[in-house]
Amino acid sequence: MTNLLELRNVSKVYTRGLTHSNPTIALRETSLTLKDDEPTILTVAGESGSGKTTLAMLLLGFIDPTVGEILYKGRNIRSLTGSERMAYRREVQAVFQDPFAVFNPFYTVDHLLTVPIRRFKLAKSKTEARDRMEEALTAVGLRPEDVLGRFPHQLSGGQRQRINVARALLLRPRLLIADEPVSMVDASLRANILETLRNLQRDYGVSIIYITHDLTTAYHIAKSIVVLYRGGVMEAGDVDSVIKSPQHPYTQLLVDSIPWPNLDQRWGEHAIIARESGLHDPGACPFMPRCPKAMDICRNRPPLFQITPHQAAACYLHDKLPSVDAERLSELLPA
Ligand code: ADP
Ligand code: MG
Repeated sequence: MTNLLELRNVSKVYTRGLTHSNPTIALRETSLTLKDDEPTILTVAGESGSGKTTLAMLLLGFIDPTVGEILYKGRNIRSLTGSERMAYRREVQAVFQDPFAVFNPFYTVDHLLTVPIRRFKLAKSKTEARDRMEEALTAVGLRPEDVLGRFPHQLSGGQRQRINVARALLLRPRLLIADEPVSMVDASLRANILETLRNLQRDYGVSIIYITHDLTTAYHIAKSIVVLYRGGVMEAGDVDSVIKSPQHPYTQLLVDSIPWPNLDQRWGEHAIIARESGLHDPGACPFMPRCPKAMDICRNRPPLFQITPHQAAACYLHDKLPSVDAERLSELLPA
């Protein structure tokens, strides 16, 4: 089994200004493996500021890790040669939160879709290019005749976000990184777009990293989940176990904010407000200042403790259980 993409013990620290004062550890000692031949949907969940977008940017190679390395098919992404780099750029695609972000208001949808076809030389003729475009649009539930020839402002938010997904799909990616892809889309369309993502995984074998602050959508779309808080993995595992039986006080807090009785209707309405909690000891459990169950021992950062073969939580409430090596996080995540 080959690994498509791998984070090896990656940390990302942002510093400000020349003095490098007030460093922010946006992501801490994270290892994650995405296999090439087992398409899956992994949710990365956490409040605003927990490091989700930083993780996405690292995987996409848009920013460099401060510590650790990122491998594409076993090779450090920094040392990829021309054709390897091109393959990485094609196989790992992104869909971002703002469905307007990649649109130039003066160009039509056709133009937006033609650019990647040319850049990656995906078609030998105009007819072939047109076929690829129509195929990708149809795959995301759009009718080509409804959107081709149009300008971005002539489309609905839901259509724009679908076109973004179609644009990524054109490249036949192996991995799609979707950073809050439905948070700016009308609630009524969210389920629909997420369904489209799920179909891509099933029908096209694309793995998806679905990034969200909203556990309800995670529950509907993903197989496995990693819960981040202040750059650290608090809990990880099979999505069903983690959401139905959360073992970390932070995950419990997130799950308590889900409007359970209306799980199918009210997704995403309860955004959780980020809370910066003043002084914070970097050696302690990051959740300690907010944790209702904090103990003295939490002054030392806990490892992940293995609850079941497919669930682990970084919390001393479980310290009777064996700890898991953080580098083996992916083994907890069912494919
Ligand atoms: P999320 O996507 O979960 O909201 P981010 O990855 O955007 O989280 O941010 C994680 C932390 O890193 C936050 O504290 C944020 O303020 C900080 N951060 C993100 N980008 C930068 C940057 N370019 N410079 C400095 N700090 C940053
Ligand atoms: Mg973000």
